[in-house]
Amino acid sequence: MCSLAYRARHPFPIIYHTPKRPKIAILKNGMAANQKIVDVRATTVSVPLEAPLRHANGCHWGRFVRTIVEVETDGGIVGLGELGGGGESAEGVVRQLKQDLAGRDPAKLEELRFLIANPTASLYNNRTQILAAIEFACLDILGQAWGVPVSEILGGRLRDRVPFAAYLFFRYPNPRDARGEVRTAEQLVAYAQHLKKRYGFMTHKLKGGVFAPDYELQCYRALAAALPGDRLRFDPNCVWSAEQSIEFGHAIEDLNNDYLEDPVFGQNGMRRAREKLRIPLATNTVVINFEQLAANVLNPAVDVILLDTTFWGGIRPCVKAAGICDAFQLGVGVHSSGELGIQLATMLHLGAVLPNLTFAADAHYHHLRDDVIQGGKMSYEQGELAVPASPGLGVRLDPHRMAEYQEAYQRLGPYPYDKDPLRPGWAPAIPNRRWADPADTRVPEIEY
Ligand SMILES: [Mg+2]
Repeated sequence: MCSLAYRARHPFPIIYHTPKRPKIAILKNGMAANQKIVDVRATTVSVPLEAPLRHANGCHWGRFVRTIVEVETDGGIVGLGELGGGGESAEGVVRQLKQDLAGRDPAKLEELRFLIANPTASLYNNRTQILAAIEFACLDILGQAWGVPVSEILGGRLRDRVPFAAYLFFRYPNPRDARGEVRTAEQLVAYAQHLKKRYGFMTHKLKGGVFAPDYELQCYRALAAALPGDRLRFDPNCVWSAEQSIEFGHAIEDLNNDYLEDPVFGQNGMRRAREKLRIPLATNTVVINFEQLAANVLNPAVDVILLDTTFWGGIRPCVKAAGICDAFQLGVGVHSSGELGIQLATMLHLGAVLPNLTFAADAHYHHLRDDVIQGGKMSYEQGELAVPASPGLGVRLDPHRMAEYQEAYQRLGPYPYDKDPLRPGWAPAIPNRRWADPADTRVPEIEY
């Protein structure tokens, strides 16, 4: 069912609007004429997860709230973008951009960077993720106008499939059916084996920082014992001290670790841990822009830079950052910030063009029950996803799914990403000592 507000904006048809057939002006040489942006739209959706995902800062409360961006040109091409925001909508900020973007050429991507997220103006309004969503949409427009996938605009793909890691979380039971809990080592192992059988994952990432480090160490080692030969990685989201990071790192040195991800906050904390450990350290937290990357090159604190297409402000900044990492022989990975199919497509096009992508990419995607793109969720085969082959990002919105999940957002509202539904008033300090209790078997009351 659509909301009344939505129907008022889109009276015919009552479901999410059907995309218009592009009317692309073709020049004599066969290239599409320059496009001009005429509209910028934003729609917030709430898509259900299998179960609430627990992390060091709180919880994904059983759903992902994402803002879907559509940029339309005078040629009738609609480019797609997507951004998150910690369980909140970004509709208002995106819509305000229409007055600045109207009449502009979506091919002028460098101009866009200064228009939307000028580095000094951004001291007042951090719009990096907004810039990213618009960049995705403009690349999608250019790909459709030129008849090529985005990966071909980015330099050409080196691979048609991108390997992914299983993303293992401690999970609360689904409030509806009390299923899906991951709290004990036995549940974690069973869940990982189920994912490996279903999707073919050969790499397994455990999101920690929920329970005390000793308990999570037992869980991680149980995982390693149950998945011999597979690769592993662990990420407690920066909530340990440097000393805790070193102790945990020593205790897992004998395992098949890709890396230990963000065990402690800050480049100096990571540098202290790195001096004592013999496994690589990775981050998606303390190297997320070019200033920080330069600092890490000059005084290394991190070995592997996990590139997030929204945190870095687009796919192109990630390609640039990967080039710098290549020159200095830093590792790179593809980070996941909780994507639906549009952002997943950006991660796939990025993964397709990076020569130095030596790690399986991360994605929350397999926790989702559905997607907003036509055809529903993309399918894993042997732990890999195919890079979309049609022009642009290669994904289109499904009007029915958009209407359903827009209605879900309007019914359920935002959620506080940095709160735990079963620990009201709790906030994690960094370093943290206020751990969750692994003997707590309560089921949170969360609306789905
Ligand atoms: Mg991380």
